[in-house]
Amino acid sequence: MAQADDLPPLREVIATHGLAARKSLGQNFLLDLNLTGRIARAAEVEDRVVVEVGPGPGGLTRALLTAGARRVIAIERDERCLPALAEIADHYPGRLQVISGDALAVDFPALVGGEPAQIVANLPYNVGTALLVGWLESEPWPPWWRSLTLMFQREVAERIVAPPGSEAYGRLGVIAGWRTEAKILFDISPAAFTPPPKVTSSVVRLIPRTTLLPCAAADLSRVTAAAFGQRRKMLRSSLKSLGGDTAALIEAAGLDPTARAETVPIEGFAALARAVAAMKAGTAP
Ligand code: SAM
Repeated sequence: MAQADDLPPLREVIATHGLAARKSLGQNFLLDLNLTGRIARAAEVEDRVVVEVGPGPGGLTRALLTAGARRVIAIERDERCLPALAEIADHYPGRLQVISGDALAVDFPALVGGEPAQIVANLPYNVGTALLVGWLESEPWPPWWRSLTLMFQREVAERIVAPPGSEAYGRLGVIAGWRTEAKILFDISPAAFTPPPKVTSSVVRLIPRTTLLPCAAADLSRVTAAAFGQRRKMLRSSLKSLGGDTAALIEAAGLDPTARAETVPIEGFAALARAVAAMKAGTAP
């Protein structure tokens, strides 16, 4: 596919700026313009504020700007990438702001300044899940972001969209399903990246739910940590780590004490989180 802007081809950018990929930073660069364009279109960024984590040499960044993003705020940890990103910023005056630093330490709501943003990223595999969980546990809700369009290893994508009863169902599926509608859009083969990773990647899109099953994110996190921490055990055993009267908690949540975490639907975990909150507040039945 032809270059959609007048900037140098990405391979040239990488060579000019000496951006040999570093494994420690999860660097697998996506140089296929068909794919960067496809991700940008799937993210529906036209006239929107976009937050991108890990722009690297800027392939996806350029696709987002070409697709009409009004403003892109890109956070990159690798300082070697900054000159290449500065060239893109010069090419699109006033539309690309590059923040040099660790995305795990960024105050995102302060950065976007009140306007709901689309988050789009080919995430570094080593911090991708931590970033996602942080975004899913955002308070207040609805969150500061209006959609997430993210690339993960296929196995992580499957855990995000996993339904109860499936092998991949776990804490990530509960928090993602509680707060969003999540869907795998398409896969990307290792061959599309430089260097190629060992596994297939998938693009996942998550849209915040406006109506949530009532419970607090922190309580939900506690109960899923206990239940899935020992996923093969029955709830009456795995939930003992929550303290208090385990049988009463399970009964208050309307769950079967002999059930295992992987069969409990999200509604069940929300009920358990409410029961834990009531126990803490001393209002449990
Ligand atoms: N967006 C580029 C692409 O699609 O080709 C690069 C994606 S690469 C998988 C991940 C990028 O995230 C790298 O540029 C890496 O330097 C950057 N990165 C790694 N850890 C980061 C962190 N904690 N905060 C911000 N960026 C990070």
